Amino acid sequence: NKYSLYNFTGDPKLEYAEWESRLDMMNSWFSDMKNSKRFLYERESIDGSKIISSVVDPETGEIRKMLNFASNDYLNLTQDKRIWKNVNDIISQYGGGAGGAPLLSGSMRIIKELQDQISKMKGTESSIVYTSGYAANIGTISGLLGHKDVAIYDMYSHASLIDGSKGANKKFFAHNDAKSLESVLKNIQNKYINKLVVVDGVYSMDGDICNLPEILDVAHFYGAWVLVDEAHATGVIGKNGRGTVDYFNLEGKVDIITGTLSKSVGAVGGFVSASEKLINYLKYNSRSYMFSTSPYLPAVAASLEALKLIEQNEAGQDQLWRNIQYVKSRLLNAGFNIGNAETAIFPIIIGDDNKVKEMTYRLHQKNIFVNPVPYPAVPRKLTRVRLTVTAGFSKDQLDYTLDQIEEIGRDLNIIK
Ligand code: PMP
Repeated sequence: NKYSLYNFTGDPKLEYAEWESRLDMMNSWFSDMKNSKRFLYERESIDGSKIISSVVDPETGEIRKMLNFASNDYLNLTQDKRIWKNVNDIISQYGGGAGGAPLLSGSMRIIKELQDQISKMKGTESSIVYTSGYAANIGTISGLLGHKDVAIYDMYSHASLIDGSKGANKKFFAHNDAKSLESVLKNIQNKYINKLVVVDGVYSMDGDICNLPEILDVAHFYGAWVLVDEAHATGVIGKNGRGTVDYFNLEGKVDIITGTLSKSVGAVGGFVSASEKLINYLKYNSRSYMFSTSPYLPAVAASLEALKLIEQNEAGQDQLWRNIQYVKSRLLNAGFNIGNAETAIFPIIIGDDNKVKEMTYRLHQKNIFVNPVPYPAVPRKLTRVRLTVTAGFSKDQLDYTLDQIEEIGRDLNIIK
C-alpha cells in the first residue's frame, strides 16, 4: 500500500498527533513562503485563448505569456462571454454589493434564486450561500459542533474543513480508507455527543475521488453524520457535473454538502446544501453566514448563470473530460506516478524535493505554469508537481506541455 509510509497503527491518538504536528510544520512553511518571490498574474486572455495568462516574472520583471496549468477554473467560465453578457443585464438591476448581512437587509431575490439553483444541482431541500467556500466550511462545521462533539476527517481534508472544528474535538482517518474510519469510530463510541465525518468529494492535491459509498455506510452505522466538500467535484464529476453524490447515485443520503463557487463555477462564494431543517439551523447558528455581508451580487449573478450552463451541459464539460482522459493516458503511458488521479487534478509524484523544484523551474522556463508541492505540504515520499487541466486547452497546447514534461521527466530520471 503506497500510503503505508504514514505508519498508521490503528491507534487514533497516534494518528492524530502525527498529523497535527505536520499541520504545524505547514504553518511555518507558509510563513517562509512570504519571503519568496511569486509570479504576479495579469489574468487577461490573449489571442482569444482562455487559458493563457500574462504573468510578471518575479526575477526579471518581464511580462510573459504562460499556459496556465495551475488554475481551478476547470471549465474556463471565469472568462465566458455568455455569462458576462447576462451578468451585465442583472447588474444594471441590482448593482454591486449586497449592503447587509442576510439577517439584516442582505437577502436579495437573486441570492434566493442562486440558492435554489444549487439545491436543484445537489438534489437537496435547501441551500445557503456564503462569501467563500472557506467561510462555508468553517461556518458549517463550527456552527454544528461544540466542545462535546467530534469531527472525524479524512487526513487529506482541506484546511477550511479542519479549521471549522477549533471549538470541537477532531480525529483523522487514513485517506479514503473506510476501515480506518471504522477503527476511529469504534474507539470513540459514546465519548462524544455528535459525530461528523468530513470528506472531500475530490481531493485537491491528488485528484482522486472519495470512496463515498463505503464511508457513508460506516459513518451512518456508527451514528455519525457525513459532510462532503464538493469544491473540486462540482462541474467536473457526476451527470453534467452535479458532483460526487450524483456520481455515486447517493442523492438524499449525504447529510451535508458544501462547496465553492470559485472553481469550476468561475466566480467567488461558497455554499451549503442540506435538509430544510439543517439549513434553517445554520441560518441562525453559523457565524460566518450570520455576521458577514451577503456575497457580492455580480458574483451571485455570474454563479447563477454558470450553474445554468453547467446544468444544461453547455459549459464545456465534454471537452474537459476529453482533455482529462488525454492527459491521464499520456502521463500513464510515459510511466509517471499519478497516484489515483481520476479528475482534472494531476499530481506528478516524484518524492524528491530537488527534482520537484527542478521540474517546476524548467516548465516555467518553457512558459508552462504549474505549482510544486514540496514537503511538508505532502509527505516526503509523495512530493510532486501539481498540474490541473481545464476545458479550454487545445490538443496542440496539451501535446506541447506533455512533450516538455516527458523530456524533463526523462532527463531527471523520473521516468525511463
Ligand atoms: N474546499 C476545498 C477542497 C478547496 O480546495 C478550497 C479552495 N482552495 C476551498 C474549500 C475554499 O474555497 P474558496 O476558495 O471558495 O474559499
